[in-house]
Amino acid sequence: MPDTNEPTPTKMRATCRTDACSENGVTYLVNMYPAGAAPVWRAQCGQCGQPITDITTAAVVTP
Ligand SMILES: [Zn+2]
Repeated sequence: MPDTNEPTPTKMRATCRTDACSENGVTYLVNMYPAGAAPVWRAQCGQCGQPITDITTAAVVTP
C-alpha cells in the first residue's frame, strides 16, 4: 500500500568527478530526496564509492 506521506522524489543529474573512476564525467539521472541538512543533495558513486560532488537539477535544460 503506497504511503501518501512519502515526499516526491526529484530528478537530479549526478556526475562523478573522481579522476581515477571509470565513470568520471558520466552523468546519471537519479531520483533524490532532499536531506534535512546541508548538503541537501547527496549521492554516492556506484562505481568508486566516493561522494558525488557534481549534482544539478535535471529541470535545468542545457541548450
Ligand atoms: Zn565514481
